[in-house]
Amino acid sequence: MRILILGAGPAGLNVAERIRQLESAGGERFEITMISAEPYPPYSPPAMADHFLTGEKTRLFWKGEDACERLNVRYRSGLTATGLDSAAHKVVFNDGSAESYDRLVIATGSRPWAPLAGHDLDGVYNFKSLSAAEKLVEQAELGQVESALVVGAGFIGVEVALLLNELGLNVTVIEKETVMPKMLDEETADIVRKTLVARGIDLRLHTSALSFSELDGRAIGVVLDNGDMLKANVYIAATGIKPNVGFLEDSGLEVGWGIPVDDTLATSLPGVWAAGDVAETTDRVTGERYVHAIWPNAVAQGKVVAERILGYDVRYGGAEIMNSLKHMGLPLIAAGAVKGDRELRASHHGTLRKLVLENDRIVGFRLAGDLRGAGVYRSLMLKKVDIRPFGTEVLEPTFGIHRLAA
Ligand SMILES: Cc1cc2nc3c(=O)[nH]c(=O)nc-3n(C[C@H](O)[C@H](O)[C@H](O)COP(=O)(O)OP(=O)(O)OC[C@H]3O[C@@H](n4cnc5c(N)ncnc54)[C@H](O)[C@@H]3O)c2cc1C
Repeated sequence: MRILILGAGPAGLNVAERIRQLESAGGERFEITMISAEPYPPYSPPAMADHFLTGEKTRLFWKGEDACERLNVRYRSGLTATGLDSAAHKVVFNDGSAESYDRLVIATGSRPWAPLAGHDLDGVYNFKSLSAAEKLVEQAELGQVESALVVGAGFIGVEVALLLNELGLNVTVIEKETVMPKMLDEETADIVRKTLVARGIDLRLHTSALSFSELDGRAIGVVLDNGDMLKANVYIAATGIKPNVGFLEDSGLEVGWGIPVDDTLATSLPGVWAAGDVAETTDRVTGERYVHAIWPNAVAQGKVVAERILGYDVRYGGAEIMNSLKHMGLPLIAAGAVKGDRELRASHHGTLRKLVLENDRIVGFRLAGDLRGAGVYRSLMLKKVDIRPFGTEVLEPTFGIHRLAA
C-alpha cells in the first residue's frame, strides 16, 4: 500500500514513525513517501531560535538528520503540492511531477498570514519556516543591519523579537492589542511587556499597522493607522498564520479556514486524513473547533492518523492549547482559555499564578516566574475536576506534591 504524506513537520513525521513502529515484522510493509516544501531534513520550528543563537542541531533535527533513511521513507524535499486529483488518487507538484497514493495524509502546516498591503515586498521577512528564518538571520548577521521592526506581538513575534535583540539589533515591536493577546490576560501580558522592555525592546502596544510602504519594490517603512510611518532596516510580519490549504482548491475536499476533520482525523474524502496545523480539530476542554497550532497536538494527531491507516479503532481525544516562552529569561507557561466565569490568583516575589475557572473547573492557567504545578493544573483541566474541595491550597506551587504525598 502506498502512503503519501504531504509535510515533514511533527505531524507528518509522526505518521511515518508510528506506522513503522506498528507494522508487524512479517506483515505488510507500507511504501511511505513524504514531501517537504523545504530543502532540509524534517526540523522543529520551536528549536529554530536556539539553533540560530547557539548553532545547536540536535533539537532542530529532532529525530536525526537521517530520520527518513532510518524509517525507510522515500523523502522528496523542496517540492510543493499544487493540486490534488482525488478521483485519480494523485497529487501534483510545482515541478510538474506527480505522486499516486492509496492513502493520503495532509500535514502541510501553516504559513504566515499578514492582512497588510505590502507584506510580500522585498525586505519583509517572517519566522515561520527554517528557510524564511535563515533569510532573516542572514540579513541580521550581515553587519549592515542595525534595526528591525516586528509587526505583531503574538507568540512568534515575541520569539523573533527576542532573537533579533540577542543578535544585537535595535528591535521595535508594534501590536494592535497587548502582548500575546490570544494567550495571555492583561496582567500576565504586562509581566511579559516589562521583561521585553527591560531587554531593550521598544514595544508599541495598541498601535495598528496599516501597510508596508514601498519604494522600487522594497519595503521602506510601516504605515500606522494614525498616518505615522516607522522605519527600520528589516521588517518582520508576524501577524498570524493560515493553514496551507491553497493547493486543495477544486479538489472536492472540504476546506474551511483549515481542513475540518472528525475524531478519527478523517477529512471529507475517503482515504484522506489531515493532521497538525492544517487541521481544524475540537478543543478537549471547550469543545470548540478551530486550528490548534502547537507542537504536541501535531505529534498526537500524527500518531492517531498512523493508527487509523493501520486499521486500529482509535479516536483523537481533542486538542489543547499550551505554550511556553523560552528565551525571555522569565519562565512562562500559558494554557487553555484566557477568560472564564472567575479566576484564582496568587502573586509572590515577582511570580504570578492564575487559574481561570468555569463552573469551578480549570479551563485555563497562566504561570510566570515559577512553573511548578503546571502538570497538575493541566491534568485537572483535562479531567475537568471540580477544584472547590482544594480551597486556596490549589494555588500553592507545591500543591500537587503535597496532594500526592498525602
Ligand atoms: C518560531 C516558532 C516557534 C514555535 N514554538 C512553539 C513552541 O514553543 N511550542 C509549541 O507547541 N509550538 C510551537 N510552534 C508551533 C509548532 O512548530 C507547530 O504547531 C508545528 O510545527 C506544526 O506541525 P505540522 O507538522 O502541522 O506543520 P509544520 O511543522 O509547519 O510542517 C509543515 C510541513 O509541510 C510542508 N509543506 C507546506 N506546504 C506544502 C505543500 N504545499 N506541499 C508539500 N509540503 C508542504 C512544509 O515544508 C513542512 O515540511 C512554533 C512555531 C514557530 C514558527
